[in-house]
Amino acid sequence: MGADPIVGLGSSFILPYELRTYLDDYGINTLAQAINHDTGLWFTAEELDLCDVWSLQWSTYIKGLEYNRIGLNEEPDTLLWSTGNYEGPISAAKSYECLVKNNIRDVHNQDCIQLWSLKIPLKIICFIWLLDKDRILTWDHLQSRGYYGPSRCVLCKKATEDCGHLFLMCPFVNNIFSHFSICLGSIICPHSTVHSFLEYWFASTAISDPIRYTPIFIFWHLWLLRNQCIFENCIPLASALIIKIEYILALFPVPQYKKKIRLIGPQPIHVYPVGYFDGAAQRNLGGAGFVIYISETHYYCFSVGCGNGSNTRTELLALWSLLRTVILMGLPIKMIFGDSMVVISWVKRRSALNIPTLKHWCDEIFAMLHFVPSVTFNHIFREHNILADELSKKALSLDMGSGYYSEYLDGKHIGDGQFALF
Ligand SMILES: [Zn+2]
Repeated sequence: MGADPIVGLGSSFILPYELRTYLDDYGINTLAQAINHDTGLWFTAEELDLCDVWSLQWSTYIKGLEYNRIGLNEEPDTLLWSTGNYEGPISAAKSYECLVKNNIRDVHNQDCIQLWSLKIPLKIICFIWLLDKDRILTWDHLQSRGYYGPSRCVLCKKATEDCGHLFLMCPFVNNIFSHFSICLGSIICPHSTVHSFLEYWFASTAISDPIRYTPIFIFWHLWLLRNQCIFENCIPLASALIIKIEYILALFPVPQYKKKIRLIGPQPIHVYPVGYFDGAAQRNLGGAGFVIYISETHYYCFSVGCGNGSNTRTELLALWSLLRTVILMGLPIKMIFGDSMVVISWVKRRSALNIPTLKHWCDEIFAMLHFVPSVTFNHIFREHNILADELSKKALSLDMGSGYYSEYLDGKHIGDGQFALF
């Protein structure tokens, strides 16, 4: 009696010792005994004949029980709404109704409302929401679930990885924030948790202010980079990340326009001859696709089977195939575009691609670059790489190294054929 009925208090009690002793003498030492079975309600202070001080303590305790809908009856236990005016069983429809009408206590939290009103892709909002709740699967959380791993922050390799370190206190992250400090002002002021930071940030920026989005994109891209470092052996480069975030922010429309947000730029300007490549990996099959434009109206489409493998492998093989074909054709290619940031930043030597099974292909690509000295490599968003994307998907059914091509001139299909490339 007097312990917290929901979470317990160990050896502590909410009600003081003297009151518990008094109730004990009264024959009440469990919650079940504190119910007046005639009325079905908790005993009142008057019914128990409590003095003023104990009366207040007892009333507060009973109010707590009532507020948390704790009651004792003969019925079997059921799940009920803890707040709001809803009755009946829990259902998805009622949950949604409750959420949109702000009838749940936690939803009154201003941070939540601010976060869900951001005009950015939902996946980023969901990520930030989880981050705010410290529910991102950083190493500390993985280890608490029994996973074994390095536990070290992959960005600085100096501290153990948790949300506070990875997103706020890591020296690598400090570099990023310092770069954006001119527009972010006092954002550098220390926060130990992302929750306290977001609380501060939403309180100090206006909904319509585009600056409000800067740390959101920093957090999102930090998480993507951290995953690339772990799963694709990328080397974290602050300068490359800053360029990426600046690029996204430059494209970002002012929220009050309420336009449909598309985080992609215009179609890139290219110089002929130009190549576009893409890789596809589905159900353990891989395909490479690429397009070589001799001019605006004269181009070749290629699909090459890649056997099995990951997305990175097919992207790399697509680039290899494009370079090999260009060299075989003797084309003085000027520009190559790909939507894989991993492969493009690797070929530009901005990051590493330490995957042992791909080393052979990596070495060959660098060797081939000597034959195409004037080529530049450029990242594009996949929305601008649709043709290569389609070609790579068509290649999924082809044997490894074999492919077919089609030639187009002035909108007409003028030839095709098959070939074996590797
Ligand atoms: Zn770190």
